[in-house]
Amino acid sequence: MANTPYPQSYYAASANPVPERPALQDDVATDVCVIGAGYTGLSSALFLLENGFRVTVLEAAKVGFGASGRNGGQIVNSYSRDIDVIERSVAPKQAQLLGQMAFEGSRIIRERVAQYNIQCDLKDGGVFAAITKKQMGHLESQKRLWERFGHTQLELLDERRIREVVGCDQYVGGMLDMSGGHIHPLNLALGEAAAVESLGGTIYEQSPAVRIERGANPVVHTPQGKVRAKFIIVAGNAYLGNLVPELSAKSMPCGTQVITTEPLGDALAKSLLPQDYCVEDCNYLLDYYRLSGDKRLIFGGGVVYGARDPANIEAIIRPKMLKAFPQLKDVKIDYAWTGNFLLTLSRLPQVGRLGDNIYYSQGCSGHGVTYTHLAGKVLAEALRGQAERFDAFADLPHYPFPGGQLLRTPFSALGAWYYTLRDKLGV
Ligand SMILES: Cc1cc2nc3c(=O)[nH]c(=O)nc-3n(C[C@H](O)[C@H](O)[C@H](O)COP(=O)(O)OP(=O)(O)OC[C@H]3O[C@@H](n4cnc5c(N)ncnc54)[C@H](O)[C@@H]3O)c2cc1C
Repeated sequence: MANTPYPQSYYAASANPVPERPALQDDVATDVCVIGAGYTGLSSALFLLENGFRVTVLEAAKVGFGASGRNGGQIVNSYSRDIDVIERSVAPKQAQLLGQMAFEGSRIIRERVAQYNIQCDLKDGGVFAAITKKQMGHLESQKRLWERFGHTQLELLDERRIREVVGCDQYVGGMLDMSGGHIHPLNLALGEAAAVESLGGTIYEQSPAVRIERGANPVVHTPQGKVRAKFIIVAGNAYLGNLVPELSAKSMPCGTQVITTEPLGDALAKSLLPQDYCVEDCNYLLDYYRLSGDKRLIFGGGVVYGARDPANIEAIIRPKMLKAFPQLKDVKIDYAWTGNFLLTLSRLPQVGRLGDNIYYSQGCSGHGVTYTHLAGKVLAEALRGQAERFDAFADLPHYPFPGGQLLRTPFSALGAWYYTLRDKLGV
């Protein structure tokens, strides 16, 4: 059977030791079969194991092979669409619950890192950087909005203050969230996988779920084995393909690209990001960057609708990096890679049940490092019969993309072009 390796990213090259995990070749029984060993699957597995469930995780490739092992590493709170949008489309009690949960994912990550001693270069502090006055106004109202839900640690940065935290002159201001921060994402996933195993969970790699036999006693089939389970959690996100056809109509895989420079040395690294915070700008198609543990700049941006792999990633992302930091013009790019996240039309997570024993969470649309950790907790709560917080997500309305499977990619690209133009014009 084909052995799918990690993509050639900086993270794979600097990963903590990666154990070889076997492919499933038997017929096994468990309480919960989790499909996908990204953060959603691993966080679910951990919360379930901590609550006495037996858990078997099936991973098509390797732990953290998907977005969880390739992302920008930015711990960004809240959701890809904010609570004011949620408030306009759901009941007040549901909005209140979702608002209260918006910063919980970053706490869960810190708890996991401390509890299981995960070595993943965790650093505190994330900056939202405004390029236009309009974006700064938006950050001011976002701060007031988050404060209404009890998230009061945010600090607005004026033009002088943002220069102290980012060595770049394209911003008019920003907002600092000290409960944000950054991590080596693959090492976080690997640490969580080790924690799953330390609690008695089993992870099979190179073991794609190829068919789900639904019913009172569901069975998940892989090419060489099967898992009989009481519950199934579908956590394959943008890499799931058409395993669960109900889920693919209302979501679309999209690619985003990341480059990593050669090590910059302490002085140059400090001149870019003196406090070692991570940064994302406020554009619709946003740029995001941070320093690695060994003082490289990790810079991501752009979206490829429909998740085609672009031919020359460096040619797409390097100009964006040089726009922010022209002083890096002679610095070499050591790594460039692409990864897929799952977009929904509302940009809010797609969560729910199929029948009474198949659960899913996917589609956090760009900002997923914190949400996926929270998702694991609310999925585990739901399986324990406490579904109030799970249902707050499950009741979010979702719609198919205009144009269906055929035209959703050009339609979404057109929409993004429109919003990018607005960002450029500052309107
Ligand atoms: C390049 C990039 C940069 C990003 N940067 C950030 C960032 O800085 N901050 C942020 O908050 N978010 C970021 N995101 C988003 C974030 O990484 C994701 O939202 C999050 O990691 C999704 O986790 P997941 O577990 O749901 O999915 P994934 O991590 O994609 O995991 C899904 C797993 O399921 C497996 N799988 C799929 N189908 C099957 C099957 N049939 N059988 C078995 N296994 C299967 C896959 O192999 C994969 O390992 C970024 C995403 C990308 C792609």
